[in-house]
Amino acid sequence: MYEKERNEIVEFGKKLITDRLTTGTSGNISIYDAEKKLMLISPSGIGYFETKPEDIVVMDLDGNIVEGDKKPSSEHGLHAAMYKAKPNARAAVHTHSMYCTVLSVLHEPIRAAHYVVADAGSVMVPCADYRTYGTMELANEAVRAMGEADAVLLANHGMIAVGKSLKSAYGLASGMEYCAEVYYRAICTNKTVNILPDDEMRRVIEKFKGYGQVKKP
Ligand SMILES: [Zn+2]
Repeated sequence: MYEKERNEIVEFGKKLITDRLTTGTSGNISIYDAEKKLMLISPSGIGYFETKPEDIVVMDLDGNIVEGDKKPSSEHGLHAAMYKAKPNARAAVHTHSMYCTVLSVLHEPIRAAHYVVADAGSVMVPCADYRTYGTMELANEAVRAMGEADAVLLANHGMIAVGKSLKSAYGLASGMEYCAEVYYRAICTNKTVNILPDDEMRRVIEKFKGYGQVKKP
């Protein structure tokens, strides 16, 4: 079952390491089959370069394993909560990427120092309050804090991003790490950081909806 999706999770897992979006076994990736209401998620504690397609765990959104003999990622509840809260989400990427994590330690959202923040579909990427990793309390708090955004920082922990495909969720996780770095470096200068106003960000959000290659009929 799900050969294509399993391979995709393995490939993007390796990318998390080579793109330096996470280290060791931290972070995790999932894909959601909305039709069958099943989620495929990376296993717990296996290095991204050691993970094989058959190690990917298939689960329902209530935490039951449907297929796989490995332990699922400890944040499977967080991923499931995303799919319950975001009807269009088909993939989620959770990372401990450096600059998102630094802002999360400051309990500071990714403010719109750079217009690309609009890629998250909101005027900023909020920061959820601290909750213990791997708990439903963390999952619920993440959903509450993210509101309309497609990404959220998790205090003293990291970030999670969702998308309509794994490619888009991964792209958002990577883009928000860039925005977090720009914002953090700007703060460090001790000069005034010029944050884009909400109405400009809403204009950019609208513009992004039509961005990209227009498919030829
Ligand atoms: Zn984590």
